[in-house]
Amino acid sequence: MFKPMPSDRLLEVETRQALGKLKPYSPGKPIWEVQQELGLDRVIKLASNENPLGASPKALQAVQRFLPELHRYPDAQAVNLRNAIAERIELVPEQLIVTNGGDELLTLISETFLEVGDEIVAPSPTFSEYEFGATLMGAVTVPVPFAEGFRFDIDAVLSAVTERTKLVCICSPNNPTGTYLPQGELRRLLDSLPKRVLVVYDAAYSHYVTAEDYSDGLEFVRSGYPVIVLQTFSKIFGLAGIRVGFGAAPQDIISSILRVKEPFNVNALAQVAAAAAITDEDHVRASRQMNTEGRAQLYEALGKLGYGWTESMSNFVLVHFGPDAVRICERLLHKGIVVRYSGMWGLTEYARVSVGTPEENRLFIAALLE
Ligand SMILES: *Cc1c(COP(=O)(O)O)cnc(C)c1O
Repeated sequence: MFKPMPSDRLLEVETRQALGKLKPYSPGKPIWEVQQELGLDRVIKLASNENPLGASPKALQAVQRFLPELHRYPDAQAVNLRNAIAERIELVPEQLIVTNGGDELLTLISETFLEVGDEIVAPSPTFSEYEFGATLMGAVTVPVPFAEGFRFDIDAVLSAVTERTKLVCICSPNNPTGTYLPQGELRRLLDSLPKRVLVVYDAAYSHYVTAEDYSDGLEFVRSGYPVIVLQTFSKIFGLAGIRVGFGAAPQDIISSILRVKEPFNVNALAQVAAAAAITDEDHVRASRQMNTEGRAQLYEALGKLGYGWTESMSNFVLVHFGPDAVRICERLLHKGIVVRYSGMWGLTEYARVSVGTPEENRLFIAALLE
């Protein structure tokens, strides 16, 4: 059999300098990997904020029905999907861009707006992809620490803005803290920022929020603020594996971003799945309900066990395990329960635990007790 040989030759091909500063993304361990590495049958993954109920059944049906069309290129403009979204959220399709997951949108925004030496401002710790996009373009990320209890500190965000600031990235509810920015504070931020600064408002977890004074940001898009709202089908809609998300923003901002988009960025199955999922109110309602109850179940058990936690508006809870956090995560892993140790966010005493089914939550708690 032919075996490719590694080449000894010294290559002189150089990458862009920006690549030297990129930090690799560290995803939650997939179930099969934990099974293989530890020889476990049952593995419960509470590490990537996936929907424990699975995908929207309507989406699954739509995908199956579409399979015979797979030899066709997808719709480059995702017309049907944009129409379906526009109708749901009371915008026009021209205010929407559909992307290969929310992650692609973040890269496209970076490619559209960031020059070398520009700055982005982001509360910290947060989702790593804002910094990734900035670094990729040679821009600089200015982190702004959260206040006590991981509350957003809008005054500190505003003070971090300079003439070089192009983007302010607000993740609400924030990943990994689960805390959110109240509507009044979002309005104050938008009204105080120079109009040349684009606010990236990442609402990936908006459907899980139960606080009354939350805003999903769309009202500010409707009234023409320089804001782009990110949404994803990976979380409550349960479509993480098929990769689809979207951005909602004033039309000019969308037109600019469309100029850097690849024509066929969203595959055809993803488009039909998302268009079906967004109409699946039963699935969304059931997912939200299970999540709200699951959060309460986790709070109560964690409290009894003496661990601290931060109240979450999302589908995960940031747990304060203390100085033993790494060891606790490792021991959970050996029992087949994968949570996300939060050291890479600088939260060395914490882990982010996704809310599972009642049974998964129970098994997580039981494993903690042991
Ligand atoms: C999951 C997530 C996204 C988008 O994820 P995709 O799977 O790429 O759609 C965006 N922002 C945050 C904060 C997330 O947690």
